[in-house]
Amino acid sequence: MNVIFLGPPGSGKGTIASKITKELKIPHISTGDLFRAAIKAENDLGLKIKSIIEAGDLVPDEVTIEVVKRRLDESDTNDGYILDGFPRTPAQAEALGKFSTVDKVIDLSLNDEELIKRLSGRRVCKSCGNSFHVDFVPPKKDGICDDCGGELYTRKDDQIDSIKNRLEVYYSQTEPLKAYYKELGSLCPIDASPAPSEVLKSVLEVLK
Ligand code: AMP
Repeated sequence: MNVIFLGPPGSGKGTIASKITKELKIPHISTGDLFRAAIKAENDLGLKIKSIIEAGDLVPDEVTIEVVKRRLDESDTNDGYILDGFPRTPAQAEALGKFSTVDKVIDLSLNDEELIKRLSGRRVCKSCGNSFHVDFVPPKKDGICDDCGGELYTRKDDQIDSIKNRLEVYYSQTEPLKAYYKELGSLCPIDASPAPSEVLKSVLEVLK
């Protein structure tokens, strides 16, 4: 089964997708993670996109589509995949429709006030990438990852100016995809405001 996670930044796409990947035994492919790995590796792609990502803007369509197309060519996607954070523009959705099929689109929704609270309080481990939240999922020791002892930091794009830009970009470029997938009959709206375990249950229900 090929599944897409839509929804604004902070709605929990990554958190829920990382749990679903274990349930369905299909890979979780996050374009944000692929881009952050390229930035960390300081390769050509990473150097090209670093400032775009830090500002909360979108990486150009042609670059993003190529990265995803290559990733979906890998054999671990033969039985399906979960795409988290792609497509984010109409051009990306159309391109995806040409090189793959989409079975279900999980559309997580949450109000702006809650999204900003979730994003601005997020802390990420520099070593293993695990996410915490200062209020909702605090680490046992301030600033230290519970799992590997690594240092926790705030992503540049989780700073308030960048968050506001990401939300504007979401409403202007990504939200219209809801209508696109509704028309195709694959949109599954999910309320992302309950606790992650509840949201997970709702998502598993629609994927059955
Ligand atoms: P995320 O971790 O999904 O919030 O993505 C982090 C950042 O990566 C976004 O704010 C964009 O700058 C970039 N990005 C991720 N996915 C895409 C995409 N499909 N198209 C363009 N840029 C993307």
